[in-house]
Amino acid sequence: MDYFEYKNGVLYCEDLKVSAIAEKVGTPFYLYSHNTLKRHYRVLDEAFEEIPHLVCFSVKANSNVAILRALANEGAGADVVSGGELFRALRAGIDPSKIVFAGLGKTASEIEYALREKILMINVESSEELMLINELASKMDVVAPIAIRVNPDIDPQTHPRIATGLKESKFGIPLSQAMAEYEVASKLPGVNPIGIHQHIGSQILKPGPFEESLRKIVNLANSLKVLGVDIRYINIGGGFGIQYTEEEALGPDRFAEAIIPVVKECNCTIILEIGRMICGNSGILVTRVLYNKSSGNKKFVVVDAGMNDLLRPSLYGAEHRIEPVIIRRGVPDLEVDVVGPICESGDFLARNRKLPRVERGDLLAVFTAGAYGFTMASNYNSRPRPAEVFVSGNKAYLIRKRETYEDLVRGEAVPRDLEST
Ligand SMILES: *Cc1c(COP(=O)(O)O)cnc(C)c1O
Repeated sequence: MDYFEYKNGVLYCEDLKVSAIAEKVGTPFYLYSHNTLKRHYRVLDEAFEEIPHLVCFSVKANSNVAILRALANEGAGADVVSGGELFRALRAGIDPSKIVFAGLGKTASEIEYALREKILMINVESSEELMLINELASKMDVVAPIAIRVNPDIDPQTHPRIATGLKESKFGIPLSQAMAEYEVASKLPGVNPIGIHQHIGSQILKPGPFEESLRKIVNLANSLKVLGVDIRYINIGGGFGIQYTEEEALGPDRFAEAIIPVVKECNCTIILEIGRMICGNSGILVTRVLYNKSSGNKKFVVVDAGMNDLLRPSLYGAEHRIEPVIIRRGVPDLEVDVVGPICESGDFLARNRKLPRVERGDLLAVFTAGAYGFTMASNYNSRPRPAEVFVSGNKAYLIRKRETYEDLVRGEAVPRDLEST
């Protein structure tokens, strides 16, 4: 459920016409609905009400500080994967005691930053990282709370590029080595193993893979008690799938129903690192039609947003629903490719898609663009990154200005020697 709705053929975001916002800020731009975001957060949080839990919003899904602040106001923590994301989460006012830090390539300075800020825990991805955290924490005279990211060797039945819990994946430590790793950790003075972490993939549509992997994780937690390691947190990762086009999305209740009985068996706090399910449907990308063209039987709608603005279709072959912002009556549907202006043939927003015939200047809405949308945007082809707008009821706020040409060259410098010739 979301608050992007058509009234008499005109698309609204909450109480405001999307077309009116487009006239003000220009295109392309991302548009977020505050009430949709809040609703998704709350429904997820309530689904796990029965057990002690903490929702750590996965910052890589949408890292705008306004979005993070809106979620902090709902009580959310954060799951960060870099020093930059930690900076954003803190800047947005997220309580450090609700922040977890994952990622397999943390640098020494990122680890020190996390230790200085006293975050809830660091998710460790390798033996060498564990040693480095121990060394840095000891030097700073602190004890680092940690979880070890375990690879449960589970097929999450999702796109291979977003599956992260298979044996051959680069993430985590194989389950078979986990006991030994925790035993090492329990003897290091600079770390305190308090959690187990897993993240098996993204856009997972069925709870089965979670049940299967969490059974293994709960067994591990219980075996660790025997070793004297007191596991207080099980971080089940993220990955709850959502509806983009035709797929059936179950909603958080059904995931909770399957997960709660499994994790209840150990008296732990459950951490949920959810990104997509919280913010995916809370955002759309609004773009304008530049041209219609055809090549043989193939018809193209050229729009002013490209793979540099929304990478998912090009990167994963992801499908996003696309509709006109203002529906024209009585126009035929055509099968088209919706393509961007980038000089790459892989630059498209949709392929072989039925769309009502559009004309130059029409606005299109690309739905479910609130997660992994702006955060994956780039300046490729020297295109300024788009604006971001946040709507709450009948108010709209610019939460990120469109970049300018000056922004594109900020930080660049021509060597003196080149200037003098
Ligand atoms: C990306 C990621 C998440 C969030 O995944 P979603 O599919 O957006 O819920 C959670 N945890 C880790 C470690 C991640 O890398």
